[in-house]
Amino acid sequence: MSDVAGRVSVSVRPHPRGGGPTATGGGTDSSMPTSGPLVDRYGRVHDDVRVSVTDRCNLRCVYCMPEKGMTFQPRAALLSFEEIVRVAVVARDLGVTSLRLTGGEPLVRKDLVTLVARLSALGFRDLSLTTNATLLAPLAAPLAAAGLRRVNISCDSLRPERFAAIRRRGELATVLSAMQAAERAGLTPLKVNVVLLRGENDDEVLDFAQFARTTGRIVRFIEFMPLDAQGEWDPARLVPGREIHDRIHARWPLRAIDVGSVAPAERFAFVDGHGEIGLISSVTQPFCGTCNRLRLTADGAIRNCLFSDDEVTLRDQMRAGASDETLALAFRRAVWAKFPGHAINEPEFLRPTRSMSMIGG
Ligand code: SAM
Ligand code: SF4
Repeated sequence: MSDVAGRVSVSVRPHPRGGGPTATGGGTDSSMPTSGPLVDRYGRVHDDVRVSVTDRCNLRCVYCMPEKGMTFQPRAALLSFEEIVRVAVVARDLGVTSLRLTGGEPLVRKDLVTLVARLSALGFRDLSLTTNATLLAPLAAPLAAAGLRRVNISCDSLRPERFAAIRRRGELATVLSAMQAAERAGLTPLKVNVVLLRGENDDEVLDFAQFARTTGRIVRFIEFMPLDAQGEWDPARLVPGREIHDRIHARWPLRAIDVGSVAPAERFAFVDGHGEIGLISSVTQPFCGTCNRLRLTADGAIRNCLFSDDEVTLRDQMRAGASDETLALAFRRAVWAKFPGHAINEPEFLRPTRSMSMIGG
């Protein structure tokens, strides 16, 4: 429910760390800035938005979706391209400089190239895409021509049978040739996202390091987060970023690359000059203190943290005739309501009710 004055009702569960007002109508206080960049109560400036264009996917990765029984949003619940572009304009005018399209699998959304062209015309400094790459090869050149700058490709194993076991659908060979197509199209630097699971693919750490060294692709190891739809997250399956670093460093010495204060990935170059890896240690070394991200879910809610269920539904406001000023105020409230951190490691942590594929990873 919403009204054009910007009051919205959303499902909000209390956050274990307490924190400020919610992103709903109660999210404003007199100290909330009404101009300038999107800043929260902890001084974090938000200039990066992840836009989920669909909650659907053509794969069923074990850490993200159940093999059977996923239910997806009806088409009418998703933002139209016009609505996405409208929200992007509001975000850009609030100082957002970086936009990443994601999902679900963004390339299952029809005519994504058209959306990319429209977003590219808005002049973001960075426009990128996260994809499982199963549908990417024929689209890489058209996406680049439409203004996409770069892609992150998810690939959790370099062994065909294991790839099939973890991703459940799709083939490793398709993904590897899509990586080449992306590079030919200039969608670089190419980053490869890897989720390691203890006992399943963690014996491939050095294979992936070698892959980074020989291809020049930046392999980024993402810790398994409690965002799977099955609710089977078990910290014992998580492989800590520090362990990954140490295993690689023992074979090929690494040195840290200073990335400034806002990058979630810790970056490391191989000392001998052959490539780079990244560690996204969201669970064991949270980067909440420098988080600059917001998410727009496929059904049009602003979400200020992957792990907070406090959402502001822009879709309903837009469909009720809200002005751009009202949408901008909703952005400010969402940012102002952001908690200092996700609290995964605290006993009171509440798992988000929506999975990564629904929120937009
Ligand atoms: N379908 C696209 C893909 O797989 O790249 C984009 C969406 S996916 C949700 C974005 C990223 O989130 C992928 O790199 C995926 O591996 C990662 N991911 C999904 N569920 C995760 C989880 N529970 N923990 C950590 N990473 C996860
Ligand atoms: Fe689909 Fe990406 Fe989730 Fe895998 S991680 S099921 S490819 S949305």
